Amino acid sequence: MSETRVCPKCDGQMERGGLRGDKMSLWGHRKESTIFGVNVVDIGSPFYMVDAYRCEKCGYLELYAVNEHRK
Ligand SMILES: [Zn+2]
Repeated sequence: MSETRVCPKCDGQMERGGLRGDKMSLWGHRKESTIFGVNVVDIGSPFYMVDAYRCEKCGYLELYAVNEHRK
């Protein structure tokens, strides 16, 4: 599966990759709540795996979160 993507900014070629790091590689729903009068932002399930496409020319990143992540 090697689809070629074209950068929307500069028409350069984009390479498929991903984001690394515990919290960076999943997309989750944002939940805001108030606990003891303090606003708390939490990221909750369902989570999605993040695909990242990077332009080789200008470095533009395009992110996709299509596949649901199950443990
Ligand atoms: Zn570009």
